[in-house]
Amino acid sequence: MTIDAHTHLFPPSQARDREAIASRDAGFAEIYGDPKAAIAGAPALLAALREDGVEAAVAQGFAFAGEREVAEQNEYLLGVAAETPRSIVPFATVNPALPGWEREARRAIEQGARGFGELRPGTQGWDPLGPEAGRLAALAGEAGAALVWHMSEPVGHRYPGKEGGLAPAELIEVATAAPDVTMVGAHLGAGASFYLSMPEVREATPNLLFDTAAAGLLYDAGAIARLVATAGADRVLFASDFPLRRPGPELKGVLAGLDAATGDAIAGANARRLLC
Ligand SMILES: [Zn+2]
Repeated sequence: MTIDAHTHLFPPSQARDREAIASRDAGFAEIYGDPKAAIAGAPALLAALREDGVEAAVAQGFAFAGEREVAEQNEYLLGVAAETPRSIVPFATVNPALPGWEREARRAIEQGARGFGELRPGTQGWDPLGPEAGRLAALAGEAGAALVWHMSEPVGHRYPGKEGGLAPAELIEVATAAPDVTMVGAHLGAGASFYLSMPEVREATPNLLFDTAAAGLLYDAGAIARLVATAGADRVLFASDFPLRRPGPELKGVLAGLDAATGDAIAGANARRLLC
C-alpha cells in the first residue's frame, strides 16, 4: 500500500479568495500570492492518487495567521476526509500564536484530525520550544496525533516558502523535548537526520521521522539513499508535497535504488503505522 504523507488541500472558497487572503497573510502571500502557484482541492488530489496508483494521502493544512482562515481550512480538510476516509487522512492546521488556539485544535482532534501540520512557527510568530509549543505537543501526545514541521535548509538557493520552518538542530531539540510524540521533519528534515548518527541523539528522539516532500525540487538523486542510511528505513515517509509535485514521479524518484523491504516501509507501511 502506497501513502503520500504530505499533500496540501484548500477549500474552493480559499482558492477563490486567494488574492484577498494574500493581502492580509504574509506567509500565504509568499507562496500563493503568485497566481501560478497551484492550489488544489480534494477532487484534484483524488484524481492524482488514482492516476498515479497511490492509495491514500495525508492532507496537511497551511500555517495561516488568522483564526478565520485556520477554521475554514480545518472544516474543509475534516469534511473531505470524512467523505473519503480510505483516501484522505486529515491533519489540522493550528496557530499557537492566537488566543484560543487550543479550542480549535481540540475540536479538530474530536472531528478526526490525525495530527497537526504543516507547522511553520517562523511565519506565525511562535516559539517551537516555548510554552505554547509544549502545550501543542502535550495535546498531540494525549490524542496519539503527530506533528509535521516545515523545515528550512540553512543553506542553498532561495525559493518561496523556504523561510519559517525549523532549522535542523531546532528539530532535534523540539523532538527531544517531547520524545513520546510522533514528529515528522518535512523535506528530508533539512538535513537533521545526520545527527541521528550520534547515539545519544538517536536515543533521545525515538519518534522522530522525516518525509520526502518536494525532494525532487531540492536535492540530488542520491539524497533519499543518504537519508535512509542516516535515519533508518523505519523513519522515512514517502511524500510529494502535491500539488507542487505529482505523487507518481516523486515516488519513482524516492524508490530508485532502494531494496524492496526499504521501499515498502517508506512508500506506505511507516505512514500506515504512525499517521493513519
Ligand atoms: Zn513544507
